[in-house]
Amino acid sequence: MKNILFLIVALFMILLLIGCQTESNQGESEQEEENIQEPVEEESVKEEEVEDREGEIELDVTVNEHQPLYRVNQTNWAIEPISEETNSQVVLLTIDDAPDQHALEMANTLKTLEAPAIFFVNGHFLQDQEQQQILKEIYEMGFVIGNHTYTHPNLSDLSEEQQREEIIALNDLVEDIIGERPKFFRAPFGVNTDVSNAVAEEEEMVVMNWTYGYDWEADYTEADALAEIMVNAPELRDGANVLMHDRAWTREALEDIVIGLREKDYEIVNPKTIETVSE
Ligand SMILES: [Zn+2]
Repeated sequence: MKNILFLIVALFMILLLIGCQTESNQGESEQEEENIQEPVEEESVKEEEVEDREGEIELDVTVNEHQPLYRVNQTNWAIEPISEETNSQVVLLTIDDAPDQHALEMANTLKTLEAPAIFFVNGHFLQDQEQQQILKEIYEMGFVIGNHTYTHPNLSDLSEEQQREEIIALNDLVEDIIGERPKFFRAPFGVNTDVSNAVAEEEEMVVMNWTYGYDWEADYTEADALAEIMVNAPELRDGANVLMHDRAWTREALEDIVIGLREKDYEIVNPKTIETVSE
């Protein structure tokens, strides 16, 4: 009887032992399964990390107010959105040969309309205190100041040294007046040379000509005719880079031009949202 009891206890213990081993085997096989699944889990973790990083980048966009939205097409001079989400139906306003007789009044008109613009200035209009004060006022109203050379020459007629002087001396002068060097360059008559391109790059300026303008043509030296053509020009399209000048008839037409462009659903683009060289 004792023997039978012993046998039963022994049998029970053996069964218990086998049971434990099976369990631990199962535990191992579960671990193995986990090992197999591990790479998959790692991938999903990576995906989450990527999403996190994208989230951070998106956050940076909202935090960084100076993130450029547009760039200047260096072939056709149009203003193009960098991202697909950015409005492409925009027009850039530029006013050249400033500040001569009308720039300040033009700036006031644009300011009232909340229409941003670039004023491309010449050194020969910045010789006395009064002219320099006008530039400062235009800048402090929030407009962007661009380089249009010191004396408005055709750069292709000049030596390399003269071209450098035309561009750099004006940047020095503008910096003296407003505390900042121009970030955009427009060559007189749209004549860019290898030298002016190189100097613009050294000076960290974006080169731009324009896509259309009419205020120097005989038929459009009158405000109504000018406003009419600027708003109905065949060249008006998304990203148009509009050239105007510091002239009486352009000053008179300016409000109608801005209103007319807006009625056609064009947004007047802020040049401060255009990518510059230093960014
Ligand atoms: Zn000019």
